Amino acid sequence: MCKLRDCSVCECPENEFPESFRRPPLGLAADDLKCQEGKPEAAVDRTLDSKVFRGWIEVDNPWTVDDETDNGEMTYVNLLLNPERYTGYTGPSARRIWDAIYSENCPKYASGEICQEKKVLYKLISGLHSSISIHIAADYLLDETKNEWGRNPDLMYDRVLQYPERVRNLYFTFLFVLRAVTKAKDYLEQAEYDTGNPEEDLKAQSLIRQLLYNPKLQAACPVPFDEAKLWKGQSGPELKQQIQKQFRNISALMDCVGCEKCRLWGKLQVLGLGTALKILFSVDGEYRHDQHLQLQRNEVIALVNLLNRLSESIKLVQEMSPTFEKTMKGL
Ligand code: FAD
Repeated sequence: MCKLRDCSVCECPENEFPESFRRPPLGLAADDLKCQEGKPEAAVDRTLDSKVFRGWIEVDNPWTVDDETDNGEMTYVNLLLNPERYTGYTGPSARRIWDAIYSENCPKYASGEICQEKKVLYKLISGLHSSISIHIAADYLLDETKNEWGRNPDLMYDRVLQYPERVRNLYFTFLFVLRAVTKAKDYLEQAEYDTGNPEEDLKAQSLIRQLLYNPKLQAACPVPFDEAKLWKGQSGPELKQQIQKQFRNISALMDCVGCEKCRLWGKLQVLGLGTALKILFSVDGEYRHDQHLQLQRNEVIALVNLLNRLSESIKLVQEMSPTFEKTMKGL
């Protein structure tokens, strides 16, 4: 369904897996597993050794459908080799997914008509949509024949910047995820970052600490989002279940995205949002600091990567907006 080879995901060859996650050799040469993007004959063996799941915990996340299980279809993907960018996935297929998300699960609200909680779901999805569009525009195939990639400011303006509400929703989603990360600070600091490479592990721990204890961030946003205000009132629990169901539908819809790379980033980021929702609104009412929070390995990966995508989007909005203001003034 995609126009471009760049849409397909490049899987990691086994020799790039961390040592402790490798399965015993099956008689396949490393070259057989090398990514041959776009070539159907590049069959990838997706079976994994159960050791890969070492240290993972299987806990239910009521907000998502992607709970980790020891599943032979799982595979490793190096996200750095598969950047979120333009893939050529457009037209009715892509449109149907967004339409399904908005019309079935979080309809647009007319101000004053809908409760705060439902607005949150809409804003989160709209903010994520803005972020995806910004990354498409920031890394766009400008000239197919020359394979020239770069920024497409017009596209960024057409899809996001000209709509202040979409920009506001992007900021909202960023602050929401940031709040979840700061709330899960103790857990994230102590989590076991086992990549199989001690150097990488130390680096990961140090980067996480830098993120969690960034003084600028704490000074600018002491409480980025106040989750305590939600689910109050008599219908609170019922409303929460309803919104949880809607978010699970959105999570399931990600499997229908007909472009592998878009599906990868779509699933990852929706899992990140589901993780933020889980942290902020845990199953049994309020999440208390003494309550033991449990996150799956993939949830931590998704949460941190989502925060990165959103903060990069905000940086791009700030970089691109003055250009537009100047251009608009010149007209
Ligand atoms: P779309 O972005 O498809 O938007 C559809 C409609 O939604 C718009 O007409 C508008 O009415 C409304 N809308 C748009 N933005 C917002 C917003 N922020 N808030 C509220 N409403 C909004 N393409 C890629 O090239 N690379 C990717 O990595 C990629 N990832 C994707 C991930 C997912 C989960 C999905 C569903 C699609 C992805 N796509 C990706 C496709 C991409 O998002 C667009 O659908 C495609 O580029 C066509 O864009 P469009 O102009 O038709 O508008």
